[in-house]
Amino acid sequence: MRTFTEDNGYGVGVPRVGTAVLTDWEAGMLDRAAEELSVKKIVVAGLGTSGTATARFLLKCRATVVITDSKSASEIAASEELIGLGAEFVPESDNETLLDGVDMLVASPGIARTAQLLVAAEAKGVEVVSDIELASRYIKAPIIAVTGTNGKSTVVTLISSILEAAGRSVFTGGNIGTPVLEYFNSDIAPEFCVLEVSSFQLEHVSTFKPQMAVLLNITEDHLERYKDFDDYAATKLALFDSQDSGCVAVVNAGDGCVASILSTRGTVFEGRSSNGPQVVPFTTTGMFGDGLYLRMSSIVFAGSGLLDGEVYSTEECSLKGLHNIENMMAAIAVARTCGIDKETIEGVLAGFRGLRHRMEFVRTLDEVTYIDDSKGTNVGALKMALKGIDSEVVLVAGGVDKGGDYSVLLPYVKEKVTRMILIGESREKMKEALGSVTDVVEASTMEEAVRIAQSSAEAGMKVLLCPAGASFDMFSSYADRGESYRSSVMALSSVSKGSKEERVASLSDEG
Ligand code: ADP
Repeated sequence: MRTFTEDNGYGVGVPRVGTAVLTDWEAGMLDRAAEELSVKKIVVAGLGTSGTATARFLLKCRATVVITDSKSASEIAASEELIGLGAEFVPESDNETLLDGVDMLVASPGIARTAQLLVAAEAKGVEVVSDIELASRYIKAPIIAVTGTNGKSTVVTLISSILEAAGRSVFTGGNIGTPVLEYFNSDIAPEFCVLEVSSFQLEHVSTFKPQMAVLLNITEDHLERYKDFDDYAATKLALFDSQDSGCVAVVNAGDGCVASILSTRGTVFEGRSSNGPQVVPFTTTGMFGDGLYLRMSSIVFAGSGLLDGEVYSTEECSLKGLHNIENMMAAIAVARTCGIDKETIEGVLAGFRGLRHRMEFVRTLDEVTYIDDSKGTNVGALKMALKGIDSEVVLVAGGVDKGGDYSVLLPYVKEKVTRMILIGESREKMKEALGSVTDVVEASTMEEAVRIAQSSAEAGMKVLLCPAGASFDMFSSYADRGESYRSSVMALSSVSKGSKEERVASLSDEG
């Protein structure tokens, strides 16, 4: 163990960010990164959590670091610290100075490919990378990367929990919250690096090669950022671009879009079949001789060349719904490939209660169950949520529209949703698309929406918050929105039983 301020090659007197000492493994890792990066001038564009972690990492590696953001330096929490460590702040509008003599630009996920800065950087021949691309060049542990429109965080958490239950040291990061470059602040060398990877991070990869790559599903999302759905889907497939025959690809062959890519292009690995990754498919809608499928309520992992057939019961699992069976299949495929034994996997699956704000039980009041699915931020998640509920639903929805087609929800809303209470920016568009098959009421606050939901729901029904949109129109995050729903639900008192009509009427009397 060496302290940062000793003669360790990273600059005497420069304070170490994070823990106070460099472990030998970390110093060794940074030596390699520093050798390459210390001679480079690098722009870090976007100073949110991941951009800040990127700048800290680059400064530790003694790169010449320029930081920039659409906000001014004084509006950015970390700017003082980063400038103190040697970074130079240049306003984003000053493209010429910003890109002068620059070798590389690390783009934060929030910056679109079409942003003026990125276009100017590409035109100047500056290499544009995401933090995942940069980090993966120096990470030595096998990388397990998970992408998909929905389910990433759940699957990443399942995989990491299984590996940890088996006593393996794991770094978990990426889009799930901890920036990937925090890997280099781990106390001991992680044996596995489990990453949640968004399409935004996949926009700027060139050598990123996960030893195991998982593709859960592709449904409409983020269409405000992509030319069209095909553009979005193609971005997700970049996960597999650098994989070779030593790698494994776990793919949901039962997902409509993934299946059509598999069938129209032969495999996602077209043109590289001889040296492409080993594919482990899974599905809840068919059967495979060489992957994972559903038999009654059990998951069967048929021999894929990796192992003999195995059966995993899902009956004792708290995770419910077909989408969670898919999530469990992906986690089993990865964990078994990592050599984790079946009993450990079953133990974790049985004990896993799911993540906050994903189909989370809030309370039962007057025989009505309230569910928080605030993380359901797109059409695909709402479709899955409704498919998984076996009673009538009063739905609280609406948020920032992401360009998806709400009409795919028509059959599910028609079958299950007795009333839809709409909040947020997308309410008009949702009302237009779905108002013909269910009763629609608009509300201006979450509290009002929940009060209307209570008056609308009868015993045995479920009240579901699943917005099918982002939260930033009314809240700071999906978690903030979920907490607002929870507190509004917890504030409800039992109401006298009357007919639904009487209760709705009394609510309008209250104004
Ligand atoms: P992500 O990290 O991809 O946003 P999460 O695990 O946070 O995924 O779940 C996001 C939303 O998608 C939640 O509403 C959850 O109930 C739903 N969901 C989870 N897994 C799946 C899946 N495999 N298919 C469709 N929807 C899913």
